[in-house]
Amino acid sequence: MTANVTADGFFGEYGGQYAPPPLVPILNELAAAFEKYRNDPEFLEEYNYYVKHFSGRETPLYLCSNLTEKLGGAKIYLKREDLNHLGAHKVNNTIGQILLAKRMGKKKIIAETGAGQHGVATAATAALMGMECTIYMGAVDVERQKLNVFRMQMMGAKVVAAQSGQRTLKEAVDEALIAFVEEADTAFYLLGSAVGPHPYPLMVREFQAIVGREAKQQILEAEGRLPDYCIACVGGGSNAIGLFADFIEDKEVKLVGVEPSGRGLDYGDHAATLCLGEPGIMHGFNSYMLKDDKGEPAEVYSISAGLDYPSVGPEHAQLKDLGRAEYVYASDKEAVDTFFMLSQMEGIIPALESSHALAHAIRIAPELSKDTIIIVNLSGRGDKDVAQIEQMVANGDFELPHYKK
Ligand SMILES: *Cc1c(COP(=O)(O)O)cnc(C)c1O
Repeated sequence: MTANVTADGFFGEYGGQYAPPPLVPILNELAAAFEKYRNDPEFLEEYNYYVKHFSGRETPLYLCSNLTEKLGGAKIYLKREDLNHLGAHKVNNTIGQILLAKRMGKKKIIAETGAGQHGVATAATAALMGMECTIYMGAVDVERQKLNVFRMQMMGAKVVAAQSGQRTLKEAVDEALIAFVEEADTAFYLLGSAVGPHPYPLMVREFQAIVGREAKQQILEAEGRLPDYCIACVGGGSNAIGLFADFIEDKEVKLVGVEPSGRGLDYGDHAATLCLGEPGIMHGFNSYMLKDDKGEPAEVYSISAGLDYPSVGPEHAQLKDLGRAEYVYASDKEAVDTFFMLSQMEGIIPALESSHALAHAIRIAPELSKDTIIIVNLSGRGDKDVAQIEQMVANGDFELPHYKK
């Protein structure tokens, strides 16, 4: 399963560990601990216990029969990661990493968060394990995401507002790393996606791979064969690699990642890193990257706060170059249309992030035969997006559509 990654964390030419010197020994200690425990039966038993009893796994694989019938082509199944505790796939990873932190004797968790979804999942698992928790968040995001800040505080986490630079995710990462290096003896850095220096992309992939393992079993039970397509949205790439991992060797299964094309394809209007970027190093790893004219990380935008990152997990860069996975994009408008369509056709309100993945399935399903099988990773539920959408409807940005069955 891990033949595609070297011992020092290279997926082909991507990945690696381009970290400042003080971080290197800390990352190596983490990589050694991960290697020691990743196949340890007691560790895996504990991981399986918490993803089941704390988060509610396994999540269902649900056939959207109304949507399938309306589109008139391929069968669309949803992997219901929205039904996890806290409403998204992120908890699969935070449980895995916090159990590792415990084994390493760490007492405190440090993490960054953008919109707050990873911060909330981290705060919850830290509360579960009785660990101290500090979340760094850009001051602008703290203001924009007040409810998530309060959720973290309710679960006992301290939220620090990063005041430097643009005061968003990048500055939160910078300040969190400074704090982490100072406290590395007792603290553990819990990263939220399949990005960053080795071993994070590999580790996050392994903790999210449960998504694809379950989906494979479930589709074999439901249909007696593998799917034709696995489709997932790509921000940092963790829910996508989680779905893809167990299918990579099954060459007949097409893997498709969907990036946000936001308002359009001009600079600053999107975050379609694999589709429109070029190789480059940021945040300690080599991957595809969107750059400004100085070669620095570009400004990025998407209607969904979970997808606007100017780099992407290195394993996706490798899968793209190998032609094993295909990467496409969907716009804000397509995501919002899909948000309403799934809500009305199936009674499921999807996260705006996940709506990008489903938008692509809706695009291709009508042209595919009725015996074609598509699995879409429904990475999260849309409750967190309802206020934003309600505001847009109130502003007259669009009317509430009505989809007929
Ligand atoms: C955070 C988030 C994403 C994007 O992160 P990935 O690492 O690309 O999976 C997607 N969907 C939801 C619901 C999220 O919360």
